[in-house]
Amino acid sequence: MEILFDETFTPRDQAKVDIEDRGYQFGDGIYEVIRVYGGKMFCLEPHLQRLQRSTSEIRLQLPYSLERLKQLLQELVQNNHLTDGNVYLQVSRGTAPRNHKFPENTRPMVVAYTMEAPRPVKMLDEGIHTITDPDIRWLRCDIKSLNLLGAVMSKQKAADRGCEEAILHRDGRVTEGSSTNVFLVKDGTLITHPADHLILHGITRQVVLELAAELNWPVEERAASIEELFRADEVFITSTTTEVTPVISIDGRTVSDGKPGPMTRRLQKAFAERIGVGSLQ
Ligand code: PMP
Repeated sequence: MEILFDETFTPRDQAKVDIEDRGYQFGDGIYEVIRVYGGKMFCLEPHLQRLQRSTSEIRLQLPYSLERLKQLLQELVQNNHLTDGNVYLQVSRGTAPRNHKFPENTRPMVVAYTMEAPRPVKMLDEGIHTITDPDIRWLRCDIKSLNLLGAVMSKQKAADRGCEEAILHRDGRVTEGSSTNVFLVKDGTLITHPADHLILHGITRQVVLELAAELNWPVEERAASIEELFRADEVFITSTTTEVTPVISIDGRTVSDGKPGPMTRRLQKAFAERIGVGSLQ
């Protein structure tokens, strides 16, 4: 397998990051995960736009143009013969003697590689179990930063309880999942947290909002309370890797009758059409 390392392709065992890479020491960098279906990157443009926004918010300049990066990512997917999987891409502020403030004259470090991954059809079909957990992350969750410790702690807590995701809440309001956006359905209306500084502006969340608009479904972008979460008719999570995944229980309590709901199913169907596969399988 080849790795995109700065601007060149390198075999996996030769791609080494320095101990003073700022991504490694400070989490000083940003990342993206892009889904590949049938050898083609899905929603590549929105991912690149979000990458650019993340870099500019942390005052990091890409070492080359976005257009060049796009071309390199396409080559990476081709070189690795990836048909179904993910591209992981990260940009750190580069390597410099350890010091919190920005280094001068340091080239940011781009690393990207591919992973084969089938669509998570079992989860999509059966739904997942979740827990709730206080959102202890910082106040710029809109930046796709390498600092993921809050998310890591929440996801592990979920795993410890035999669950797949932690639904986070701040001051009694649902924000998002540890690595996903969260949607509620109540009386035919979709409810999801507004795309502000408290959540990541998920690309899949945006696709779902577009699909909902096409279906003429009412949508409220607002922070739902924890009580509303437990009383919702349906709950689902979205992300690049989990698509539209039904939530069937929260803290051991079933969502409605404990089966994926009809609006979630309808969105899954619309999503599958959008990515060019006919059904869940
Ligand atoms: N929220 C968080 C905290 C995430 O880490 C992610 C993706 N990993 C998402 C939402 C979903 O974003 P996307 O649909 O762009 O993958």
